Parts: sequence; structure tokens; C-alpha cells
Amino acid sequence: QAKAEGRATFAVYDASMHDQVARRLELADALRGALDRAEISVVFQPIRGGAGFADLVGWEALARWTHPDFGPVSPVEFVPIAEDTGLIVDIGAFVMRRAARQLADWQRLFGSQALHVSVNVSSVQLMRDDVCGLVAGVLEETGLEPHSLWLEITESVVLDRTDMALQALVQLGEMGVKLALDDFGTGYSSLSYLKDFDLHVLKVDRAFVRNLAADRRDQDLTKAMIDVAAALRLEGVVAEGVEDEEQAAFLLELGCSMAQGWLYGKPLPAEEATEAARETLRQSEAAARAALLRT
Ligand code: C2E
Ligand code: MG
Ligand code: MG
Ligand code: MG
Repeated sequence: QAKAEGRATFAVYDASMHDQVARRLELADALRGALDRAEISVVFQPIRGGAGFADLVGWEALARWTHPDFGPVSPVEFVPIAEDTGLIVDIGAFVMRRAARQLADWQRLFGSQALHVSVNVSSVQLMRDDVCGLVAGVLEETGLEPHSLWLEITESVVLDRTDMALQALVQLGEMGVKLALDDFGTGYSSLSYLKDFDLHVLKVDRAFVRNLAADRRDQDLTKAMIDVAAALRLEGVVAEGVEDEEQAAFLLELGCSMAQGWLYGKPLPAEEATEAARETLRQSEAAARAALLRT
């Protein structure tokens, strides 16, 4: 009986392993032609700042893949595949170009050079591709000010410490684009690497924000990360995954300068993101007028 069960368990385990490997291979194969078939798109999620996080300060650009048979595939699943296969180089370049063009449109439409777009850059891009050349080309093409373009990197980039990746980061800093450390707090705990290049922004991972209202330790850790940003003289801290007003209130209390999450809007295609932005700007202008009338 036990032996039969054991064998059955093994068979199930084996089959699911096999399914996982098979899906990964199928996805890798399908991803190869995805850009050419226009299956990859970019969505934009607002980032808020200012008093009460009432002001729109920019957007994060996020990649989406919809395959005719597989349907929508999460970037959590396809980005690692794109990294392993090297496809992230072309996909990343596509996202950056698309995001920069969209921001240039938005800066014209809303008459504000202060709005930024934040683009995720994989360590594979930094190690294998000429990201500086890509960024220079994109800035030239769109006429954007370098500081309008934020590049989000993860701790793994810096920790790999390959000369090429680190050199690229230093050079990107010199070009005037802003570097944001994504998912901060989820990687390794060494802080010394934060001094090796010109970092501008820390993004506190959603893992700390999720239970912020209930968990005292998450409050203390978030505060510690905000203190680290201050010690490094960074320009700001973005809290990720802000879903309710209670979390936002804690973050404001802790001195966090920017917030991003479903409370302020889900990632949306450009056209819908434009409508949402129009509404946010209308509201903050109305609030500013009301404040002016009161004085
Ligand atoms: P990330 O860069 O940390 O992006 C934030 C993720 O959190 C996004 O997931 C976003 O949709 C999600 N999110 C934002 N607000 C909330 C919230 O309030 N609640 C919850 N539950 N989730 C929220 P998404 O779009 O699925 O992307 C996942 C990850 O995939 C990204 O994490 C990033 O690491 C990677 N990724 C996405 N697009 C790209 C890309 O163009 N290039 C690279 N290299 N990586 C990308
Ligand atoms: Mg990001
Ligand atoms: Mg993040
Ligand atoms: Mg994340």
C-alpha cells in the first residue's frame, strides 16, 4: 500500500515537473517571435508624490505578453525566460523606446517636464547589451531630458559586480538618467554596494507594504529603509504595492516621498492611463485652487 502510494506520488510529482519544463520550453519557443508578431505591449502604472500623495509624478512602464494560444502570460513568468534566452535584450529595448515616446507625448499633453517614466532594466541587458547606447539613442529620438528617464535595477545587478554592469551604471549616472533600486529589501543585506554608483531612488518592495498597518516590524523596517535613503542623500523613496488608504497614511507618517499601487491605479494601456492621469491632474489642480481660496 505504502509502496503503491509512494510510487503514485512520485508519478504525480514527475508529471507536474514534466509539465513545468514543457511549458517553459513552449513559452521560450513562442517568445522568440513575440515582438515581431506584436504580441508584446507596454502598460503604465501611475506613481504619486507630494502632500498626501496627491500629485502625479510619473509612471512605471511594465511589459505585457499576450499569446494567441497561451493568452496573457505574466512578466513574472516570461521575464526570467527572456533573460535565460537573451530575448530580454530586444524586449527591454522595445519597452524603453515605447515608454520614452509615450512620456514625450504626455509631457507635451500635460505641459510638464517634471513627469518621468520608470523602465525596468534586467541585469542581462546591462551585461550583454550596450544599454548606454540604447539610452542615448532613445533620448536623442524623443528629445526627453535625461532626468525624465528612470531605470529600475535590482540588487542582483549590483551584487553580480561584473565590471561591465557596474561601469554601465556609472556611465548611465553620468548621462543624467536616474537610477532606482527596485524591490529593495528583498535581496541581500549588504549596503556597501549602494555607494558604488550614483543611485537616486529606492523602491521599497510590496512585501513590506502589504501588512504595514498591522505589523510593527514592517513599519520599523520601512522606516529603516527610508533612513538609508536619507543617509545616502537620495532624492526619494517609492513604496510599491500600496492598496489602501491605511497603508498610505503609514507611509506618509514614516516620511516616504512617493507611492505606487492599486490605490492610485493599476497598470493600464497608454490611452486609459492618459484618461486616468487627466483626472488626477484635474483633482490636484482643484485642490490647489481650493487651498488658495482659503488663504
Ligand atoms: P516590479 O518592477 O517590481 O513591478 C511592480 C509589480 O507590482 C508589477 O507587476 C505591478 O503590476 C505590481 N503591482 C503594482 N501595484 C500593485 C498593488 O497595489 N498590488 C499588487 N498585488 N501588485 C501591484 P507585473 O506587471 O506583473 O510585473 C512583475 C515584474 O516583472 C516586475 O516587478 C518586474 O520585475 C518584471 N517586469 C515587468 N516588465 C518588465 C520589463 O519591461 N523589463 C524587465 N526586465 N522586467 C519587467
Ligand atoms: Mg520595477
Ligand atoms: Mg518593484
Ligand atoms: Mg517587485
